[in-house]
Amino acid sequence: MNKTEKAPNRMLSMLQMKCPNCHKGPLYKNKSVWPLNKMMDMPENCPVCGQKYEIEVGFWYGTGYVSYALSVALIATLAIAYAVLVGFSWKDNSIFIFIGVMVGALVIMQPWIMRYSRVLYIYVFVKYGRGQTLKSSE
Ligand SMILES: [Zn+2]
Repeated sequence: MNKTEKAPNRMLSMLQMKCPNCHKGPLYKNKSVWPLNKMMDMPENCPVCGQKYEIEVGFWYGTGYVSYALSVALIATLAIAYAVLVGFSWKDNSIFIFIGVMVGALVIMQPWIMRYSRVLYIYVFVKYGRGQTLKSSE
């Protein structure tokens, strides 16, 4: 582990949905996913460092792929857990129960999947302290 880590708690900042540039400002207006119709509301700029969140028009379009990947990862994790804890068999309804559990989990987790998709996505493009602060100050 000789990876020099300059950014403080990158993982923690991602978990807490903080600005990728300063790790202080919140990415989302509401801390909780409630109300659901406001859960994707983001400030235009980071209130702490001024980092623009929607870097260009349609920037969030690519998050569709990220949320797809996260959903697949969630299903894979569930499938492994289910196989270990319950086990799959053609003789009973375990596969159908699993599908029910999986769909339920996907629906319940959807707000977080969508939010963390954007968090992961912006952390790919904006690195700590090197973000483009579009503050029109002199
Ligand atoms: Zn910031």
